[in-house]
Amino acid sequence: MQLSLFEDAKPLTLVEKVRAAVDEIKELYLDRTTPGPWAVACSFGKDSTTVLSLVCRAIQEIPVDGRWREVYVVTSDTKIENPEMEFYAHNQSRLVNEWAKENAIPITSRIVSRELKRSFWVVHLGKGYPLPGNGRDRTCTHQLKIEPQNNFLQELKPALLLLGSRDDESSRRARTIAKYEDEKASRFGESPYQKGIKFYTPIRTVTTEEIWEFLQAPLPWGSSIEIRRLYREATGECGLINPAGATKARNACGARFGCWVCPPLQRDKSTENMALIHEWLHPLTEFRKELKEAWDGKKNPQNRSGFMRNQKLLKPGQGCITIPTRKHLFQRLMEVQEEVNDIREQDGLDPLVLIDDEEIETIQAQWVEDEQDRPWLMAAMPVDPAV
Ligand code: SF4
Repeated sequence: MQLSLFEDAKPLTLVEKVRAAVDEIKELYLDRTTPGPWAVACSFGKDSTTVLSLVCRAIQEIPVDGRWREVYVVTSDTKIENPEMEFYAHNQSRLVNEWAKENAIPITSRIVSRELKRSFWVVHLGKGYPLPGNGRDRTCTHQLKIEPQNNFLQELKPALLLLGSRDDESSRRARTIAKYEDEKASRFGESPYQKGIKFYTPIRTVTTEEIWEFLQAPLPWGSSIEIRRLYREATGECGLINPAGATKARNACGARFGCWVCPPLQRDKSTENMALIHEWLHPLTEFRKELKEAWDGKKNPQNRSGFMRNQKLLKPGQGCITIPTRKHLFQRLMEVQEEVNDIREQDGLDPLVLIDDEEIETIQAQWVEDEQDRPWLMAAMPVDPAV
């Protein structure tokens, strides 16, 4: 197998690099000693879109009777995604499926999402758990993104999981990739998150400039104009204008476009930038700040019960938020949803669901249960003036 993909000593043109990538993917695809489907982890951001495009091009070049391996494109929807990105990803997933069907390409695109009990709103407004903070706590990443994808992959047991990770994406991720990579072939390794599943990072050494150059061309399943528009609106980055901006303005769990409500972020610049163009996003950026403030135990100790749900005693300003605060924030969320949809209606857009009926029912049932069984969560512990 040639290993010249995007990393030869002699600089290659983009056309040559794409050729090498497609050839390598074809060779791996056709290898019947590694039976089983492939999975492509795809957020439909610029990197995973590039990987998926290369896979599609590779399979297109194989005669129909040789396309023996099924490929599943798996996208995690946290249900609190930046709505513009969520619309885009769902639409792309549909277009990929249509294109694959029309062209006899064995690719199926699936969107997976968290169980109801993992819903951000159920966990935080229903049960009052602390928000993920600025430290290493990324329970949300695991529960909302990794777990749904893992469940799907554990069932699928893919021969390879293709990822759009790149070395210049961030040094932390580069270290993670390096740690788990197979020494013999630098773009292959065992996934740290999906035990027993081999990953393959075909664009690992591709630069951001190269990604954007590649994405100037149409995607196999449709236009690439939309993805460039999204990045331009969110980050000012659209390849030709500001490719260097790609290494900045990243969301908390590594995603360029993350959850609109993302608590670990000090500022969600991508949604704020987009709100300058799409006014209906503005109430969301304001509500994100309101939530962070409400949970801030130093500024608002009166909102924190001082207990965990299991009655473990903490300090004032710590622990789960009180039931009345949960109810207040829930009410605010409903108001924000209304405000967003009023603006969207004026713009001729369909209503946006920030929280669905199942989540609302579950949250309300949780409050009733807590009011009956967990009185320690009703009000904040008094702050001892001597402390
Ligand atoms: S974008 Fe933020 S809230 Fe969403 S999973 Fe990542 S860290 Fe958590």
